[in-house]
Amino acid sequence: MEKRLLIVIDGPAGAGKSTVARMLAKKLRYRYLDTGATYRVVALKAKERGITPEMTAELDRLCAEIEIGFGDNEEGQRVHMDGKDVTEAIRTPEISMLTSRISQERVVREALVDLQRRLGGPGVVAEGRDMGMVVFPEAEVKFYLDANPQERGTRRYKELLDRGIPVILSRVIEDTNRRDRADQNREIAPLQMAPDAIPIDSTGLTPAEVVERMITEIEQRAYGKR
Ligand code: C5P
Repeated sequence: MEKRLLIVIDGPAGAGKSTVARMLAKKLRYRYLDTGATYRVVALKAKERGITPEMTAELDRLCAEIEIGFGDNEEGQRVHMDGKDVTEAIRTPEISMLTSRISQERVVREALVDLQRRLGGPGVVAEGRDMGMVVFPEAEVKFYLDANPQERGTRRYKELLDRGIPVILSRVIEDTNRRDRADQNREIAPLQMAPDAIPIDSTGLTPAEVVERMITEIEQRAYGKR
């Protein structure tokens, strides 16, 4: 049997990371680790408790207390916060923006990087912003997935509409760009491509085409197949 690998995917919002990470994990029979969801759960809990990003001590306590879990059902992966299913609640535009702000805080990043390292390892496809540079620099295969801003915004827009959240396209594109700028320019663990990452531009490609390209790269890089 071929050696099981740790595969990571980084990139901006709407690049298609979650969709292809999920498909790739299924194809390889690996586990899918959605690290953005861990930040989103913390943001949701902070909002519920009225904790703002500036309240560092409270955020620190929240991170120590909160229980973040992943489960599966017939609809796919579910996200749990203190035993409650919050899969839909963490995906609203408001929580997306708050997550981007809260994820700039050192106390939050330290707690969640710790958790993510415990959940990662061989046989995992992990997806986020700082996987290749900070959380799993030792990953055998690293991808950096991108797409042009118009397409990324449009994908996010369709996702939100599919979930029944009423949104305006121009506003979603604007929010996505704003979030990317914040993620790229923050002080701690900004979004950037690892020097040993394989860049893939998903503009105009279907998720299946992206996965196919990834499998080819994995076979070449990790298993020396031509
Ligand atoms: O990937 P997703 O859109 O769910 O991520 C939500 C937010 O969480 C990002 O905009 C980013 O601010 C933060 N995040 C992060 N590091 C990660 C994953 C997500 O800072 N590894």
